[in-house]
Amino acid sequence: MTPEKDNLHKLLKTHFGYDHFRENQLDIIQDIISGKDTLVIMPTGGGKSMCFQLPSLALSGTALVISPLIALMKDQVDALKANGIRAAYYNSTQAPEEIEKVTHDLREGHLDLIYVAPESLSLLDTLLQEIQVNLIAVDEAHCISSWGHDFRPAYTQLGYLKKRYPETPLVALTATADVSTQDDIAEQLSIPKAKRYVASFDRPNLFLDVRPGQNRIQQILAFLDNHPFESGIVYCLSRKSTEQLAQKLRDADHTAKAYHAGLDAKERAKIQEDFINDKTPIIVATIAFGMGIDKSNVRWVIHYNMPKNIEGYYQEIGRAGRDGIPSHTLLFYSYADTIQLRKFIENSANIEYQTAKLERMQQYAEALSCRRKVLLNYFGEFLIEDCGNCDICKNNPEYFDGTTIAQKVLSGVTRLKEQEALGMVIDVLRGAHNASVYDKGYQHIKTFGAAKDIAWKDLQQYIIQMINQGLLEIRFRESGRLLLTSLAKEVLFKGKKVQLANLVQPIVEIPKER
Ligand code: ADP
Ligand code: ZN
Repeated sequence: MTPEKDNLHKLLKTHFGYDHFRENQLDIIQDIISGKDTLVIMPTGGGKSMCFQLPSLALSGTALVISPLIALMKDQVDALKANGIRAAYYNSTQAPEEIEKVTHDLREGHLDLIYVAPESLSLLDTLLQEIQVNLIAVDEAHCISSWGHDFRPAYTQLGYLKKRYPETPLVALTATADVSTQDDIAEQLSIPKAKRYVASFDRPNLFLDVRPGQNRIQQILAFLDNHPFESGIVYCLSRKSTEQLAQKLRDADHTAKAYHAGLDAKERAKIQEDFINDKTPIIVATIAFGMGIDKSNVRWVIHYNMPKNIEGYYQEIGRAGRDGIPSHTLLFYSYADTIQLRKFIENSANIEYQTAKLERMQQYAEALSCRRKVLLNYFGEFLIEDCGNCDICKNNPEYFDGTTIAQKVLSGVTRLKEQEALGMVIDVLRGAHNASVYDKGYQHIKTFGAAKDIAWKDLQQYIIQMINQGLLEIRFRESGRLLLTSLAKEVLFKGKKVQLANLVQPIVEIPKER
């Protein structure tokens, strides 16, 4: 071990009591110490904080940590202090004496880390100029992006940090960022060259299951019969449906409670507590439930309706099986749900990207290839092997050798210079004689009409499968244009074979239950 590594291990042991770094931690820490900007994507609980806490001890000066949640800030600082690390926070909730003490300690160089809410940062501006800032950490960095799921306007001011401290390493950290959001974070924080560390999002113990959304109640009751005494959560879209479903489960002799933001705080706390203590094994909830709930033995999560994006879905299923024991996740999917979700989106800001995210969720639900691949692709991870632990892997659809089709599609995308979205790619491959094709002169490119024997809908399905297999990437922020991945190049140039699934009827259902 190099002296530097040795020293870092010592700090890990003496300050935090741990013997080993987790995946990526050591590389990230070394990058930060050597002054490089980094972008860290790690699931919740993965150990992101260590990535800036440890360098703050190895470097002289004080680390500036931007953190959005005041409650979270306090917890982190308390935990650091308990480990004998000199940390403090600064935000709008503090009494004048407290603020006095913090600013004094900061000025005197008595702090290893200072946690600041983005809204309060400007108040510290002058003081920060006077001290030595050894690194800047932007926690929950997805909040900067309107592409993320938790946009916070105060975060958009953080772009000036890199300009003000060009020599200071900046590390942005988040648990949820698809590739587009990662790009946006890097751009807005002015860290275009930041090395990206994406820790694995895989939760192999979660069985991923999607079923058509017919007779959901009967399906749920049957599911519960097969999972007696297990604890789980059913997510619904509306408050009313949580109440109704909980009642139906109770009518069938299950111990179930509804949970949503319309209940008063005391009631909510009680329901949570009873769930954690296994008194109420089943919770029927809106997405308000689960944030900050630490219960390791949740054995299943059911989505009564499809969530509006993959980030939300991933977070919610992630509440199952934290103890690592096999757990079941079940998503009900119907076309009617997507129509309802589209209506919600129509009334919101950023319709375009929300629609793109919804479509990605829909592709996951309609996938004909390994679902875990689809899920991980979304976060920028590319699995080589099928997972063997999802409904598709368990009852494989019939595959055929789709290499020729795939090659046609990939070379079509190449000839369109990776500038065009799904619809145009299909039109060109099918040799469509329409104005948008002709306007761009695409009727002259070599792959025009190369797949004219395949119906439009079928070709669309094949290309979606290719996206889901990680052969193509969609850039939602750039009008949904399709790009080749490194895997695609193996198909084009190294003779790698592609299996495509025979098309089955898409799941379309007329809602009966509502
Ligand atoms: P995140 O911010 O990614 O959600 P945290 O930074 O809160 O996660 O870390 C989650 C837990 O993992 C904490 O209890 C932390 O002390 C612990 N942890 C972090 N790094 C290590 C390590 N190298 N070895 C053991 N535990 C670790
Ligand atoms: Zn699978």
